[in-house]
Amino acid sequence: MSGINREETDLQISGLQHFSFCRRQWALIHIEQQWADNYFTIDGSIMHEAADDPYFTEKRGGLIVSRSMPVRSERLCVSGKCDVVEFRESPDGVPIVGREGKWLPVPVEYKRGRSKEIDADRLQLCAQAICLEEMLCCKRIDEAYIYYAETKRREKVMLTVELRAKVESMLIEMRELYNRGYTPHVKPTKKCASCSLKDICLPKLHKYVSAKDYTSQIWTVSTS
Ligand code: SF4
Repeated sequence: MSGINREETDLQISGLQHFSFCRRQWALIHIEQQWADNYFTIDGSIMHEAADDPYFTEKRGGLIVSRSMPVRSERLCVSGKCDVVEFRESPDGVPIVGREGKWLPVPVEYKRGRSKEIDADRLQLCAQAICLEEMLCCKRIDEAYIYYAETKRREKVMLTVELRAKVESMLIEMRELYNRGYTPHVKPTKKCASCSLKDICLPKLHKYVSAKDYTSQIWTVSTS
């Protein structure tokens, strides 16, 4: 991306899940703009398209449901989109134009698969909640939900001080790499087998030669 002012560009909230999976994967996607669809990512995007109906809202009982809601935090310089935000009637909530009462926002993220041990999905959800708190000037959002398609279950996620701190420290690390335009080197792990970018990253070549050395070897051969 030539001519981009990195320091003034928002980081994508969705990047938190990539970053917590593998720093290099995040950089290949968000700095180098490389992407490769595999079963997991294709399936995931189809699912998100199903939930995508920009700005659609509906009222169901004591809930107002908003889909594909854009969110941003000026303070953290991040932006993204919530699959669903459920506004629940509550004295701790915020007014909504055209609606009576006060409404507390609760983000809900849709994911394929099942709940994971790593916090990837929970970090993304927590960042969405932080954005909503800032945008809507509402009290702290204590909980949010992730719906997993494989298990057809909703997981409640408590937005604890620890989870919030993890989001913020990860964003600081991402910002530092993003502003430098730096892609971390390969560190092969068992996660590489399910990585959507393994054919671009080529982790197996890592033990033989670095990409930089490989390029310079090709260059030497072709010019000699
Ligand atoms: S193949 Fe492995 S090292 Fe490369 S981006 Fe994917 S997870 Fe990271």
